[in-house]
Amino acid sequence: MNVLDLIGGTPMVHLPRLHPLLYAKCEHLNPGGSVKDRLAKALVLAAESRGALKPGATLVEATAGNTGVGLALVAAARGYSLVCVMPEKMSVDKRTQLALLGARVIITPNAKPSSPDNFRRTAERLASEQGWYNTSQFDDPANVAVHSETTAVEILQQRPDVAAFVAGAGTGGTLSGVGRVLKPRGVRIVLADPKGSSYASWVQTGTPGPDAAYLVEGIGGSEPPANLHREVIDAAETVSDEESFAMARRLIREEGLLVGGSAGTNVVAALRVARSARGPVVTVLPDGWDRYRAQPWMK
Ligand code: PMP
Repeated sequence: MNVLDLIGGTPMVHLPRLHPLLYAKCEHLNPGGSVKDRLAKALVLAAESRGALKPGATLVEATAGNTGVGLALVAAARGYSLVCVMPEKMSVDKRTQLALLGARVIITPNAKPSSPDNFRRTAERLASEQGWYNTSQFDDPANVAVHSETTAVEILQQRPDVAAFVAGAGTGGTLSGVGRVLKPRGVRIVLADPKGSSYASWVQTGTPGPDAAYLVEGIGGSEPPANLHREVIDAAETVSDEESFAMARRLIREEGLLVGGSAGTNVVAALRVARSARGPVVTVLPDGWDRYRAQPWMK
């Protein structure tokens, strides 16, 4: 058994005080503290099996922080170096954790995908200039596949009567991967989107909405990524920063679930869905509180 074997297989908690039909999968209990450990393991193992990674290779990834922590664990276990490119809006705690894990951290401005300064464009440029391997979480189909093969299977084992699945989308891996397995079984798939993200309008109309700044980290954005599959999504719920952070604090203080802000977004949206659902509503708690303790909303 090594650290890679500790990834996934997360418990599902029942939250009856919020709603009798509400359940949440504790992705914050993965060894790196987030849902992104699943993806990190899948991206590296898929690259190895394609022969794309030489021993001692350097990985580079554009990350909001959680994929970086997951990749750092996997890189340590498999003998690779890691460079993380992060937009400056991401918390200082995440930068510190990545540096403590031995990753090199490069901070970019909070620029749109069309700008050369954008974190994804920067990672692509560094990969080609330096000969590093870009793990490409936004585009690699291994991201979606790992959620179909692990997260969705676990949900069906834990709640075979699941009626709805609700999650935010950063890369879209969680929602698309779980959605494509559960939707054909009649499960309603709902995007939880921060107010300010363009994805909710895109789900509803096919055209991304206007985007504005918001503070929740790791989900939403201005342009829907390739791994977010619109055809598996039935509806979208928009959640404000205030609602997300109030719910995250409530989950911490009243439920003892030590989670981050996007867990609040997911649970607010899942609660709305539960009010008119005919069976269990499952969501995910994507990451833990340890990476946000210096953020003003945590107080
Ligand atoms: N919450 C947080 C805090 C995240 O970092 C991420 C990933 N960026 C997500 C939710 C969404 O996960 P996914 O990339 O699978 O859409």
